[in-house]
Amino acid sequence: IPSRLPDVGTSIFTVMSKMALDYGAINLSQGFPDFSIDRTIIELVHRYMVEDHNQYAPMPGAVALRNAIAGVIGRTYGRTVDPETEITVTPGATEAIFSIIAAFITTGDEVLLFDPSYDSYNPAVRLNGGIPVHLHMRQPDFSIDWAEVRQKITSRTRMIMINTPHNPTGAVLSEADLRELERIALQHHLLVLSDEVYERLIYDGTPHQSVLRYPGLAAQSLAVFSFGKTFHATGWKVGYAVGPAALMKEVRKAHQFIAFSVNTPVQLALAEYLQTPDHYERLGDFYQQKRDFFLEQIKGSSFEPRPCKGSYFQLVSYRGISSQPDVAMAEELTQKFKVAAIPVSVFYQDKTDNRLLRFCFAKKEETLAKACEILRKL
Ligand code: PMP
Ligand code: GLN
Repeated sequence: IPSRLPDVGTSIFTVMSKMALDYGAINLSQGFPDFSIDRTIIELVHRYMVEDHNQYAPMPGAVALRNAIAGVIGRTYGRTVDPETEITVTPGATEAIFSIIAAFITTGDEVLLFDPSYDSYNPAVRLNGGIPVHLHMRQPDFSIDWAEVRQKITSRTRMIMINTPHNPTGAVLSEADLRELERIALQHHLLVLSDEVYERLIYDGTPHQSVLRYPGLAAQSLAVFSFGKTFHATGWKVGYAVGPAALMKEVRKAHQFIAFSVNTPVQLALAEYLQTPDHYERLGDFYQQKRDFFLEQIKGSSFEPRPCKGSYFQLVSYRGISSQPDVAMAEELTQKFKVAAIPVSVFYQDKTDNRLLRFCFAKKEETLAKACEILRKL
């Protein structure tokens, strides 16, 4: 039987985390925190399990959690969303993205993506018969060239996918970007899939530009979020999609046959935990300190950091150290020097290699310090 994804291997995150483990390297590759999550939420999950909330949750998500999410969206983005019809809880943002694409993309539909792009986007489009059309973000600031976007739109273009704050570059979209996206989406009747999993990991006082802030754009958008990022619990795999009722109705048709629902006690615990804004409002400051600590520690090395405005990833150029391709550099760094990173060329469909590595700084200071001690010696 022919493969539907003949060119796809194992995800780079799995490959590099395994290599880090095999070689005893400090793992700054795959994006996940190495510190404990808040005990309060662990105790809440435990309590809901003991109280027997262990059966299927409603397909669109536990009512309490959808209500809590609607409250957060109202407070954060000034947008009223109906938890009954406009929010769906999913097993991570990954399934939300897949369900949205499955719901709307059919054979021959074109989807505009910006490289470097998160690794699940392209395969999700192709598994649903769509044609991913990859554009490059502009160097050196990884901005979007909207004039080029307009040029690439054809009669078959159906969707445009954005990600802000951006993995792996740490770039963020501005209000001007969102306004231009809104004009384009409305003019060409495009759906927008907005990956906002790093909505709270944004630094230096910059506001996150959610599609939910822009009524015209929001009417044609599905935004996806992840509690994995917001509450440091990537292994829980709980996220959600937000969008207008008519679109969400279609997303749920796919979601109910891909995952059906998400584990109940965690949803109920999250609903209760979300009642305290303190639990998520200080996240930007928390990670900004980590970014700054990492930048301070890497100073004096020959690695050259690129600006990081959001996400928990720091790009660095290693041109001052080596001219080898980034995949080889990441392997050498992991195997020989015992610090694992992600080569950025894997996020490009055409494997463009700008000699950049991605380091995840969602780590304890001692982890970052140890890694940078090694990096300073290279
Ligand atoms: N989108 C981006 C840009 C991500 O970085 C990630 C995960 N790290 C996801 C989606 C997937 O999120 P989740 O783990 O909630 O499925
Ligand atoms: N999104 C995480 C990263 O970019 C990894 C998620 C995964 O391993 N699938 O590192």
